Amino acid sequence: MVSASADNGTGTVGFIGLGNMGGPMAANLVKAGHRVTGFDLVPEALAAAAEAGVEPAASATAAAADADVVITMLPAGRHVLALYEDGGLLAAARPGTLFVDCSTIDVADARAAHEAAVRAGHQALDAPVSGGVVGAGAGTLTFMAGGGAAEFARAEPLLAAMGRKAVHCGAAGAGQAAKICNNMILGISMIGVSEAFVLGESLGLSHQALYDVASTASGQCWALSVNCPVPGPVPASPANRDYRPGFAAPLMAKDLGLAADAVRASGVQAELGLRAAELYAAFAGNEGAEQDFSGIIRTIRQQSGGAPTPQQTEQNGTPA
Ligand code: NAD
Repeated sequence: MVSASADNGTGTVGFIGLGNMGGPMAANLVKAGHRVTGFDLVPEALAAAAEAGVEPAASATAAAADADVVITMLPAGRHVLALYEDGGLLAAARPGTLFVDCSTIDVADARAAHEAAVRAGHQALDAPVSGGVVGAGAGTLTFMAGGGAAEFARAEPLLAAMGRKAVHCGAAGAGQAAKICNNMILGISMIGVSEAFVLGESLGLSHQALYDVASTASGQCWALSVNCPVPGPVPASPANRDYRPGFAAPLMAKDLGLAADAVRASGVQAELGLRAAELYAAFAGNEGAEQDFSGIIRTIRQQSGGAPTPQQTEQNGTPA
């Protein structure tokens, strides 16, 4: 993590949305010496942030009025747009405030939010993250930022306090574009890895043998070598703890839904991306609602009518 000394010229930070991600991100800003005023609609989330040193505000607009930089970490684009305009966040802030939206939202919504902020006399940056709740707590998130170079430079000390890496991807919306493109690769590759393991099972291949080959050959990817969907070969992967997330399937379904919207809007021929969105929407809406996204292997196996033999999993511990 790049160290961020106290304040660093960023002034007071208003942090709106102190949930699973925003709570620990705001706490890391406090730890790095920043003054943070925060707000969340859920009193328990606000109280937990206050314990970590965030100064609780009475409302989102109160947090923004006092701030030099406003960070939002909200569920979806409609929450960001509603809060910015109808909710009065932009109007409440001092002119020249930097609005950094770290939520994962639609590229078009990110551009609309950016334009609204600039119209109101402010600066804006979209800066969605990868790294999940663990990365938010550990301060090891990766930020993908969209907006001007000056805005990125102004936000950098804050991003450095919450993450390990920040990439300036281009103009407004480019951060969200990078996020959904990356997660489209991830969703497709997890389905591919899972299908390969289930095919290997039906061909009599052990999980370990397929892992040993593919993880050092051209099949290597993060879905295989870090988040391996069968228990055994990668002890830290969610498959070893009954697919507890990790990266929850509903979040993958959300991100693939955003990617699918962008695919349709742009006319790109992304058949695998669209199919991955369908498969994850079905999985997350049913048996995968509370599972890591790698749990989709169980659905693929069940629909294939198979189960691994003890021999296939014997080097790996518990069968998947
Ligand atoms: P969350 O539901 O835990 O937190 C969102 C918070 O926003 C909630 O506490 C909610 O009360 C608050 N909120 C909603 N509307 C508000 C308003 N008008 N004013 C104040 N507070 C408001 O969600 P999360 O897991 O923290 O995710 C936040 C964002 O980060 C999402 O866009 C998600 O897609 C993205 N993300 C999440 C993860 C993850 O692993 N959880 C990983 C990467 C990106």
